[in-house]
Amino acid sequence: MNLVIFGPPGAGKGTQSKFILKKYNLFQISTGELLRKEIMNKTQLGKDISSAMNSGKLVSDKIAGGLIEKFISKNEYKDRMIFDGYPRNKQQAENLNKLLNKYNQKIDLVLKLSVSLDVIKKRIIGRAVCSICGKIYNEFFNPAPVNSNCCSSRFLQKRSDDTLDISISRYQTYEKNIKPLIDFYEESKLLRVVNGEMNISEITNEISRIIEGIKG
Ligand code: AMP
Repeated sequence: MNLVIFGPPGAGKGTQSKFILKKYNLFQISTGELLRKEIMNKTQLGKDISSAMNSGKLVSDKIAGGLIEKFISKNEYKDRMIFDGYPRNKQQAENLNKLLNKYNQKIDLVLKLSVSLDVIKKRIIGRAVCSICGKIYNEFFNPAPVNSNCCSSRFLQKRSDDTLDISISRYQTYEKNIKPLIDFYEESKLLRVVNGEMNISEITNEISRIIEGIKG
């Protein structure tokens, strides 16, 4: 089973992907995380993309697409992928279909997490990620445990694009590109919309219910 999960910034794509991959033994392919790694490692690609990322814009389709083929081509990953944050527009969705087709695979389910801008602002401002294990917390809704070796406050990091201004710009970028992407996946009857404003475990349960339904 290959899955796509999309939604506005702060919708909970990363958080939910991490639950789903554990439960169904899948691999998460997050283009956002892959791009942040390039910036952190100060690669040439990292230098080229940092200004687009820090202004809430998308990097080019060519760059984003270039990151995913090495996973799709791996035998170990075959039919076991969650694409988190890819595709972000119709062109990328078409590219993804072509790439999957090349390796005799397809998308089985597309999940859209719906969340309003008001909720997103709070989620983004409060978000912090543990630099050791990658777990995502929120100081308002889901604070990190106080007595934890791994996720203690000194290991929690804010993303540089998690500011109010950039989050609004990221939301606008999302809104601008999303309609054709929704139409594309509605046409192929793969799209399921999930209310991303419920609490984390309610969303996970709803997603699990949908996955169990398509597994039959
Ligand atoms: P995310 O971690 O999914 O919120 O992505 C963070 C940022 O990475 C986005 O605001 C974009 O600048 C960039 N990015 C992530 N995925 C893509 C993609 N599929 N296409 C273009 N840019 C992307």
